[in-house]
Amino acid sequence: MSGLENEAIPPARPIIGEAEIEAAVRVLRSGMVVQGPEVAAFEQEFGELVAGRHCVAVNSGTSALQLTLMALGFGPGDEIIVPSFSFAASANAIRLVGAVPVFVDIEPASFCLAPGAVAAAITPKTVGIMPVHLYGHPAAMDQIMALADQHSLAVIEDAAQAHGAALGGAPVGAFGTAGCFSFYPTKNMHSLEGGMITTADAGLARTLRLLRNQGMEQRYANEIVGANMRMTDVAAAIGREQLKQLPGWTKQRQANAAFLDGAITAVTTPSVAGGAEHVYHQYTVRVPQDRDGLQAFLRERGVGSAVYYPTPIHRLLPYLVDGQPGPWDLPETEKAAREVLSLPIFPSLTEGQLRRIADAVNEGATR
Ligand SMILES: *Cc1c(COP(=O)(O)O)cnc(C)c1O
Repeated sequence: MSGLENEAIPPARPIIGEAEIEAAVRVLRSGMVVQGPEVAAFEQEFGELVAGRHCVAVNSGTSALQLTLMALGFGPGDEIIVPSFSFAASANAIRLVGAVPVFVDIEPASFCLAPGAVAAAITPKTVGIMPVHLYGHPAAMDQIMALADQHSLAVIEDAAQAHGAALGGAPVGAFGTAGCFSFYPTKNMHSLEGGMITTADAGLARTLRLLRNQGMEQRYANEIVGANMRMTDVAAAIGREQLKQLPGWTKQRQANAAFLDGAITAVTTPSVAGGAEHVYHQYTVRVPQDRDGLQAFLRERGVGSAVYYPTPIHRLLPYLVDGQPGPWDLPETEKAAREVLSLPIFPSLTEGQLRRIADAVNEGATR
């Protein structure tokens, strides 16, 4: 086994277990593979994770965000406040409906939207706020919801990285007008590809169901113009098996994080806000000096790592204005993009591997 001890540790490891394979085969053999009973059961069961909210399954997390913005009627001229320090999908969904992303800075400790900066960015054109529960840490939803209520704004939670995260005992996806989850293979749970929208608003849930299926509830009785963003029953069957295992995986991620918190001394380990439950989609440290050098050192030691995200969204090509970043003032976003490094945290890491990760980080950061 000594060879295995030195095997490279990947930054992430998607899980496809026997239960998922059997579930997929069972649905394939049934011949009923498109959106049907498995999707309905998955929606029902996912509701338990989000305080009983209505759940609408779709074909990706990006579709979940886009469909929610469509259902809320947002489009050209409407401003939606979003962090630039996120995956491009957050802002892409806003642009895909023709609305305008207004980029706001993050809190340095949580890497999530800074409520004070949100307040300063609200204009008469603002229609919504899209907090991102980045890395599995909940955004400051108490303050963000208070601002939204005060200004009558929709809140679309991007919970793509935060299945099961909570603040003050309340789960993410149960704060805003809607919550949007992703089931991409590297997320804390997956359905190969897939997404889920959660909402307390039954009318909004019905509109979302129409929009994902060509505007139809009854076949060929189209009520509105809709898209095809359906989840297949094969995907839902896989998602249902993953959902059963999510609590155990989350505990394992949290235990891995606790180990690394104790063992890593040479860089800044993640912090958890008071009352927050962090589900560690990523375990992200800050490396103020020569982050890329440390990453190369870790690679030599067989320890995978990743930078989420090296380029804030406002600096990506489609978001430049006349070839330049827009007039955004995002110092914490720029700093985070230079400093962050995500270490392996997936549930099946062994104590020996965790020890290797911590030792390599400590050695690499003090070399
Ligand atoms: C993964 C992700 C998405 C998009 O989800 P997909 O299922 O890949 O479309 C959106 N936002 C964030 C923050 C993500 O990490």
